[in-house]
Parts: sequence; structure tokens; C-alpha cells
Amino acid sequence: MSEISAEYDGVMGTIALGSSPTWEHEVDALAQLLEGRRFSVLTGAGVSTDSGIPDYRGQGASRRTPMSIDQFRSDVVYRKRYWAGSHRGWFTFASALPNVGHRAIAALEQSHFINGVVTQNVDGLHRRAGSAHVVDLHGSLDRVVCLDCGQRYDRTALAVRLSRDNPWLDNVRDVALAPDGDVDVTEFDDVVIPECEVCGGVLKPDVVFFGEVVPFRVYSAATSIVRKSDALVVAGSSLMVNSGFRLVDQARRARIPVVIINRGMTKADAVADLRIDAGTSEVLNALALRLGATDVAEDIE
Ligand SMILES: [Zn+2]
Repeated sequence: MSEISAEYDGVMGTIALGSSPTWEHEVDALAQLLEGRRFSVLTGAGVSTDSGIPDYRGQGASRRTPMSIDQFRSDVVYRKRYWAGSHRGWFTFASALPNVGHRAIAALEQSHFINGVVTQNVDGLHRRAGSAHVVDLHGSLDRVVCLDCGQRYDRTALAVRLSRDNPWLDNVRDVALAPDGDVDVTEFDDVVIPECEVCGGVLKPDVVFFGEVVPFRVYSAATSIVRKSDALVVAGSSLMVNSGFRLVDQARRARIPVVIINRGMTKADAVADLRIDAGTSEVLNALALRLGATDVAEDIE
């Protein structure tokens, strides 16, 4: 997934235009466009910023070099660095709560406006907000998989092992998270990294690393959601990652409307039928209210 580097290298770093004063009027146009259609939603890091998880434009994110799957697989030093940073960030990451935007999406699904959510995020917040049909395009940080035998582990259980073996890593609060849940660490030589309890193999979080491709079955689940919808709404993504952009391309080829809700420019602005430059929480909440998905939306905030 070489395209992830585009979000790390700070290309979008200076583009943060803030809310457009006209977005409330644009929600009317959005509601009008989506009325009577079942639509799918593609979400990115911008949807989770209101839950305290920074996006790729966040402070510090741009200077980090993503670890590649080859480095992780072949070199124990990289694995030590990964698990040290990831474990330090885990408690903060795992305690993030769904925000208004996640809940509006769940309400729209429960009211049959949305037929499915494809997310580039690895935080699991759509499911926790109540969305039922979610494809984790880049995996989920709450699962761990053995690269050698395929055995899967729950991350919370693995965190217990990591804490037991590395008590000095533990209980760091108020850490500066990266979107992938990591924290920058400089000391990791002494980290005892977890091994597979079945075969002693290399454990990896069940997320797509730099240099990996989205698994075929995951990608086809995503394309299937888009194929069955009458419109595609992109929320909180600059679409710099190709796996996301290709879904927009699929929607275009199917001649269904594409809507983008994002602060700042995106790679698909030129082909969008409607573009709202504003935060996803407020726009999605307003959309849910306009379309009458009020059961959840009304107790928001
Ligand atoms: Zn194994």
C-alpha cells in the first residue's frame, strides 16, 4: 500500500480550511440528492478526530515514516519498536468513544438510508456506534494475527501479556497518539515482544501495513457495498490512499452520485457531484436530522 505514504508525507499538511459558513445550506442540497436513495459511506481519519484520534494532518504524524511489512516481518528491532509504541498508545486508543458522526451514520443505517460502511480507520468506532454492515478496509487494531499459522488473538488479551512482560511500558496516559494508535518511542531495546502461543511465530496487528495490499475478500466486500448503493458518500478522507479512491472510481463508473464531506481538499474533488468543506460530525448529524433518522440523532450532544 505505497499510497499510504502520501498521507504521511505532509502533502495535505497545510490544508485545513475549517468550516465553510455555507455548509448548512449545502446539507439541504445533500439531503435532496440522497433522498430516496440507499447510499454507502466511505470514511477516513477525519471521522474519528472528534473522538480524540488525530488524522494524518495532526501534529507529529507527518514526520513519522510508516513501518513496512517487510521490516516488521524480517527484523525484530522493528517489531520491538512497533509493539512499544503501539502498546503505549493502546489504552488511550481503545478508550476512544464514538462521536456524533459515527452515531449519525449508525442512525442512518438503522433507518435504511445507508446500506453499508467502508472505513479506512482501524479504530472499530463505527461498530461501537451501532453500525451493522462495516468493512474494515485496512483491518482493525483490536485483533492480532500470527503471520506464520494464522491464529488470531484479541488485542485486549495481548495487551495483558505485553503489560505483564513489560511493566515499564504501562499506564502511560495523555500520550500523543498517531492515527494508527501508535506513540513515538525512543527506548525499545528491552521490549519483550509477544509470540504466537500456538506456533511461536510472529504476531502482527490485523491491520494493513505499508507495503501490504488490502486482502481480496475484504476489498470485494467493500466493492459489493458500493455496487448495491445508489450513491456514495465519502466522509473525512482526503482519498490519498488508492484503495479508497478506487471505490470512488467504481461509483463513477456505475454513474451513481459521489458526495464528499471533508475538511480540506481531496483527490476526488474534481469528480464529486457535491462537495462540503466542513467537519463530518456536524454535517452527518444535520443530514441524519434532515432525512428523519432522528431516533439516534436526537439524543446526540
Ligand atoms: Zn502461530
